[in-house]
Amino acid sequence: MPWILRTISLRGGRLDLRSFIGSPERVEGASVEYEIARSLRKNPQTLYFSKPTGFDFDVVGNVITSREDLYRALGTTREAYIKHVLSAYRNPIDPSIVDTGICQEKECSIYDLPILRHFEKDAGKYITSGIVIAKDPEYGGNASIHRLLLHEANRLGIRIVPRHLYEYFKRSESRGEDLEIAIAIGVHPLILYSAAFSPPLGYNELALAGGLMGQPLELVKCKTVDIEVPASAEIVIEGKIISGERIAEGPFADVTGTYDRIRHEPVVEVGKVTHRKNAVYHALLPSGMEHRLFMGMPQEPQIFKSLQEVSPVKNVCLSDGGRNWLHCVVSLGEGKFEIEDVIAKVFEAHPSVKHVVVVNGDIDIFDPDEVEYAISTRFQAHKDAYIYKNMRGSTLDPSTDGDGKTTKVGIDATIPPGKEEDYEFAEIP
Ligand code: MN
Repeated sequence: MPWILRTISLRGGRLDLRSFIGSPERVEGASVEYEIARSLRKNPQTLYFSKPTGFDFDVVGNVITSREDLYRALGTTREAYIKHVLSAYRNPIDPSIVDTGICQEKECSIYDLPILRHFEKDAGKYITSGIVIAKDPEYGGNASIHRLLLHEANRLGIRIVPRHLYEYFKRSESRGEDLEIAIAIGVHPLILYSAAFSPPLGYNELALAGGLMGQPLELVKCKTVDIEVPASAEIVIEGKIISGERIAEGPFADVTGTYDRIRHEPVVEVGKVTHRKNAVYHALLPSGMEHRLFMGMPQEPQIFKSLQEVSPVKNVCLSDGGRNWLHCVVSLGEGKFEIEDVIAKVFEAHPSVKHVVVVNGDIDIFDPDEVEYAISTRFQAHKDAYIYKNMRGSTLDPSTDGDGKTTKVGIDATIPPGKEEDYEFAEIP
């Protein structure tokens, strides 16, 4: 077991946000109306906003500023990352339930929270780092991240893409019942990462957090709903998603930095809001590096895992230029493979990917110049480009027609087997 993992385990089930952020640069008296968002976009470092104007809660943002930050949060390194996560994924540890949690030290109103207004044309103030925890009689616990639009009268609009929470809500709605939920804000990045992971339906994301920590994540029961939340969260919003109601949600500037459109989405009725003494609100700037890494990095081990079915893979990266969501680079290991299978598998494993570049293992996939070098010297479009029309892509890509239908391209930038001599890289003796 690597030593870094052991250090994490010492703090175990009580991992919290504060232990991770340390003592970042402080900013006094900023406004939640655009000003904090502007600072977070301009300064790519962790920033701590003491008592934003009109609020008693502090705000922290850019908690994760680089891949290295997230590797550190997970107790791993760039080299070990994918195997580390897949090992935890295959050995999940169910959460444990404890009697008391610091997340319930105090109570407040939803309007006491320093929720940010980020971008000019956003529909309003959005909670962006909330982990929504729900239960289903058949599938058990689920944790996922959803943007939440603040409305009047203790209500939130919630964007639910057709994945697990959508399924949970559909099932409760078909019984004519509201779906009880709790929203945890301000957790250690390892927990946020786990909630952003997309395991199959029925696999509890909080058990992945346990697997990553090497021991159970401690949860505490909510006061007004039958849901358990991470005991070390800074803030917990208890509530329910109302059966039969929809409300306009959007525009909202999302991961690509362009606006996602208005849709009719479900409504959360907020019940009790509890928090830690002197709670810190985690502001996650949409389209910022932190947002992009929490979206993209959990997908990489899962793409890697799927690719192992068709090819020896060295590494997988959702690149920065593709906003860590739309572009995938794969480097191959030694052995037999069909490039077309590799490309098709990436699109299947992560349907939002639009362009995939496949390179040999000598290329550093985290260096865009090296990837471009491979395309410039190892790729011939008439035989190495694979084009797929009318595919399901990401609705966040503004170049689609809005229905998410897209054209995908796979680029084979590998050296043809048997031709290695032509590609010998010149050395200076
Ligand atoms: Mn799930």
